[in-house]
Amino acid sequence: MSLEDNSDLVEDYPLNERQPSYPSNVYRLNRTVGVPSRRKPPPPPPADGEDGGEVNVIALYDFCAQEPSDLSVRRYEEYIILQKHDPHWWKARDKNGNEGFIPSNYVTEKKSNNIEAFEWYCKNITRNKAEQLLRQEGKEGAFIVRDSSQQGVYTVSVFTKAGGDQNGSVRHYHIKQTQTSQRQYYVAEKHLFDTIPELIEYHEHNAAGLITRFRYPVGLTGKCSPATAGFSYEKWEINTSELTFMKELGSGQFGMVRLGKWRAMHKVAIKTVYEGSMSEEDFIEEAKVMMRLSHPNLVQLYGVCMQQRPICIVTEFMENGCLLNYQRQRQGRLSKDILLGICEDVCEGMAYLEMNHFIHRDLAARNCLVSDKNVVKVSDFGMASLGPLSFIPGLEMWKDAG
Ligand code: ADP
Repeated sequence: MSLEDNSDLVEDYPLNERQPSYPSNVYRLNRTVGVPSRRKPPPPPPADGEDGGEVNVIALYDFCAQEPSDLSVRRYEEYIILQKHDPHWWKARDKNGNEGFIPSNYVTEKKSNNIEAFEWYCKNITRNKAEQLLRQEGKEGAFIVRDSSQQGVYTVSVFTKAGGDQNGSVRHYHIKQTQTSQRQYYVAEKHLFDTIPELIEYHEHNAAGLITRFRYPVGLTGKCSPATAGFSYEKWEINTSELTFMKELGSGQFGMVRLGKWRAMHKVAIKTVYEGSMSEEDFIEEAKVMMRLSHPNLVQLYGVCMQQRPICIVTEFMENGCLLNYQRQRQGRLSKDILLGICEDVCEGMAYLEMNHFIHRDLAARNCLVSDKNVVKVSDFGMASLGPLSFIPGLEMWKDAG
């Protein structure tokens, strides 16, 4: 899906500019990197040691160990991956030799063709969201690099007040590649670079014909860490005594939903399940499967409380509530781009479910939730198979039909 009108992508630059000397001190990470893979979530990683080599990764977010089997990680630090048996929790070693499990979505591989760890790279961000973010920052030269709607292409979006616009405007530059045998990157035609970070670094110091130089990297990475698949490795049962129950958020088919905290630290949504509203055995089996699903556009299941009745389901808390109300409250005020962005979020979540042979069976705006960053996530997947409908003979065959 394309949300972009790239008609203002530029540019013809003066061809007679000399290439200035190359600055060397700007990398946030002291490494050379180049072209990353496209944005789609990669397939589950291969088992560890398949190619015999150790994998080095860099942390994108801080993670605080919750159990003795976990390893805390710090943003920008390097780790060695020892084992990838679980796609969501990898066994890692830090530089001091400590070992434990870390969430796999908190790290990115350290290799020369990966730009993910750079502060300026915003994965999964549309042109519209990029503009919002940059205007919010409002600083001359605030910039981000994002995946363009054109497959395999990156775009630099930059905020400027040049040109006399008091409110400022956002320019979008495609990062182009030469057609020569040794492919090089450029936004200004005369300034070619082997890697995207080298290009960005250069334009952080030199406008070289662009509307402004890239002054302030604006990124999402590190600002809000994504949900993890459960709070720890293989931990799907949550102790009720570790939960604090707070205000009511709503109630649905299976029970009441409350805001809460786990270990007085993590905001969560706690769904108490009415007794008799579903088969508990089926529920446990389903919960185990759902715990293994983890995607930025699915509401994350953290675990379940089984020690007492009624049982509870603990999930990621979504500040902006259900999509149906979100849209009703903003009727007529959501632009075409935002609505398309909502569709895109839902499609990405559903495509991931499909890839994992999981059928939702009750997709509706009331079963999607909206985060504080206005990201839409699919919720209640798996639940449709547990309600009264699932007892209709023959219906069960639809589950896992993939
Ligand atoms: P239903 O069974 O009708 O799909 P739910 O039981 O899932 O409804 O949720 C009822 C209401 O509780 C939702 O409409 C929403 O407002 C709120 N809610 C549910 N889950 C969450 C969550 N994870 N974060 C925030 N609010 C939630």
